[in-house]
Amino acid sequence: MIIDEAHDTQNLHPFKGDVDLDKLRALVKQVGPENVAYVSLSGTVNMAGGQPVSMANVRALRKLCDSYGIRIYLDATRMVENAFFIKDREPGWADKSIADILKEFCSYTDGAWMSAKKDSMVNIGGWLAVNDHNLFDALRNMVVIYEGLHTYGGMAGRDMEALAIGIAESVEYDHIYSRVSQVHYLGNLLLNWGIPIVQPVGGHAVFLDAKRFYPHIPQDQFPAQTLAAQLYLDSGIRGMERGIVSAGRDPNTGDHRYPALELTRLAIPRRVYTQAHMDVTSEAVKAAYDSREQTHGLRMVYEPKQLRFFQARFEPIESHSH
Ligand SMILES: *Cc1c(COP(=O)(O)O)cnc(C)c1O
Repeated sequence: MIIDEAHDTQNLHPFKGDVDLDKLRALVKQVGPENVAYVSLSGTVNMAGGQPVSMANVRALRKLCDSYGIRIYLDATRMVENAFFIKDREPGWADKSIADILKEFCSYTDGAWMSAKKDSMVNIGGWLAVNDHNLFDALRNMVVIYEGLHTYGGMAGRDMEALAIGIAESVEYDHIYSRVSQVHYLGNLLLNWGIPIVQPVGGHAVFLDAKRFYPHIPQDQFPAQTLAAQLYLDSGIRGMERGIVSAGRDPNTGDHRYPALELTRLAIPRRVYTQAHMDVTSEAVKAAYDSREQTHGLRMVYEPKQLRFFQARFEPIESHSH
């Protein structure tokens, strides 16, 4: 349900994570609101290159969902980065704190879940929050069944204490400013060399545009996977395919799904790397770019049934003509 601009890696729209409300309205009308369990919203959309959702969009989404009685749940995993982009780009938010922006954004949703090892900088864990007490009771009861009493189940106490500190530090402006700026530093190095990436640069990663990087490699020979492999061979840098492998197969036809975006993600952990690591990374990408015409695609030799992008194996297709 994302806006069309998100499918164009060159489009500079500041909020390419926005929900397309017309598409959503059409779907709700088609299937009936009673058949929509909830709307799942995600900040800095990973599959679109880490693009943010605007405050104006979530407000309008709330209105639309209210008119149909549909709830909204937020994947808040990267919402601190999203709040940074609202402060930086959306008129009227420059003077608000990251925490205030987050609080207002969440007020338009009915609940949120989070993988805390991203924005909250902890080793493990997460949380689920809802604004409906009956639902909260039901969920808490499931914690008791599957993890242990809610006061100690699931996460260890020390991990919860670390998470509490991580939440507070994650919304400090200097922290999130330097975090996003490091990602943009890498993006700008690549742009200066004319290397095709998704623009605007996202909040947590630089996404290489593998279709334009390797225009001679057909999508069913996995250009983004090829690029991830080349980077690893050259430098040991581990990127991640976000393209045809990640999109999986159509269950009806059995053929690959062919997504519009064929990307290799260079996700950057928080508080781990220096500027020198970004320089080395950019040089590795440049080396792969300079030898792009000699690079051939891949053949998948092992394909697991579910979520193949985690475990599939590939081998190089040898060239037959020069
Ligand atoms: C990483 C991530 C998840 C999964 O979280 P895990 O803690 O790795 O299970 C879910 N949603 C988003 C947006 C993520 O980035």
